[in-house]
Amino acid sequence: MSTLVMKYGGSSVGTAAALRQVLGTVANETSKWDQILVVVSALDGVTDMLFEAAQLARIANQRGYRRIAANLRSRHLAIIDQLPLERPDRHTLQAEIDRLLSDMLDQCRSIATNLNEELSPAYSDAVVAAGERLSARIVAALLRQHEIRCAAVDGADIMVTDDAYGNAHPDLALTRQRVEATLLPMLRSDMIPVVTGFIGATPAGETTTLGRGGTDYTASVLSALVDADELWIWTGVDGMMSADPQEVANAKVIPRLSYDEAADLAYFGARLLHSRMIAPLAERKLPIRIKNISLPQQTGTLVSTEPNESEPALKAVTSIHGLSLRRPASGSLAGVTRLVGNTLFKTLGMRTEVMIASQSATSSFICLVIPTSIGIDGVDRLQRALEAKMAEYPEKMPWEIGTVALVTAIGSDLHRAARLQAQLLDCLEEIEILGLALGASNCSFSLAVPAKEARSALRRIHGLIVKSD
Ligand code: ASP
Ligand code: MG
Repeated sequence: MSTLVMKYGGSSVGTAAALRQVLGTVANETSKWDQILVVVSALDGVTDMLFEAAQLARIANQRGYRRIAANLRSRHLAIIDQLPLERPDRHTLQAEIDRLLSDMLDQCRSIATNLNEELSPAYSDAVVAAGERLSARIVAALLRQHEIRCAAVDGADIMVTDDAYGNAHPDLALTRQRVEATLLPMLRSDMIPVVTGFIGATPAGETTTLGRGGTDYTASVLSALVDADELWIWTGVDGMMSADPQEVANAKVIPRLSYDEAADLAYFGARLLHSRMIAPLAERKLPIRIKNISLPQQTGTLVSTEPNESEPALKAVTSIHGLSLRRPASGSLAGVTRLVGNTLFKTLGMRTEVMIASQSATSSFICLVIPTSIGIDGVDRLQRALEAKMAEYPEKMPWEIGTVALVTAIGSDLHRAARLQAQLLDCLEEIEILGLALGASNCSFSLAVPAKEARSALRRIHGLIVKSD
């Protein structure tokens, strides 16, 4: 029994042309696999618009959030107009789009009437979940029209999570029960579930989300629970790249990565994959392929068990924003570490954090990164929360908080690569290095640099990667 899970990101469902490719790729694989499960993101940019709507609702800007709902309506309707659908299906779909957007407006209204200072993620999760609900219905209607047996499934009915709204963690035991009750029978009867990514619900049924880019995470958890043979991630780029192509012009596709390398790459800032998605797949040695929806015949990137390179090599470089904490004294870091950990959890729903910590006789330095899954304002939110917390203990906590960039080179066996480490430092020349660390999995070498130097450091390290090929 062969099972394939395919995840379609925002750019692969964002236009009518991309949606036709979705149809093409599913149709192409149905004859090759016994069972297929599809997981979809919201259309490109839709989640951002929904977050904006929730923010506008918080300040009771009714016009603002209504305008967003109207824009979303016309975008989704325009897309289905361009798709090969029969009239009755088109009508049903239009009615569903209207219903979902009217639910979303209800949520916004309830935020506006319960005005609070900070927008609570419990409220915004209920609003942003609309994006995936819309796209899953469109994809399902399109496939159905082409005689592919399928049904849209709401992730909130399958993914049972804790109540860390905005960055929830799935409860695997409870989710497994739902998968067994709902998804496995569908798969066995030759039906393709088209599941909304990113969304879950608490055991009490309150909608949650798994953090930005969370559709990958849904796809990964479901791949593990349906015991898939492979997970394919369809995206708008050619695969995992050696650097962010928007920052570095000659970035190239990385053909193979180990699970540890892929996890570190995602953790340290490559937005293509959600950092928590790798573990469930690595445990089962379940291969992941990352492919370009516009060029399905290209091989893209394969993430699988150790590729077994003979020599340590650098494969990619990332840069991510972080916070630095500095104080002109040494001494135990236990107090501040606990405070940062607690604030991180309260503000962002995260339990773990990466830190570079260094101490000398007269000063202490800590650098922590904020995973991209938190969203763009994560660093700001945490900085504000930490400053407020520390203001409560002025004598105890003379820590100065600032922003830094953590530039990370990813590769295999970096602990056995003194020469590579030396080259990395050498190429940075006059750039100030605030801290450095070899990642515990030996796949990452991170340098904390002033935020304004991030791009230059990134480009120089990428130069090294290109030269070493
Ligand atoms: N739509 C969500 C986001 O933009 C989840 C995803 O795309 O994976 O973050
Ligand atoms: Mg993504």
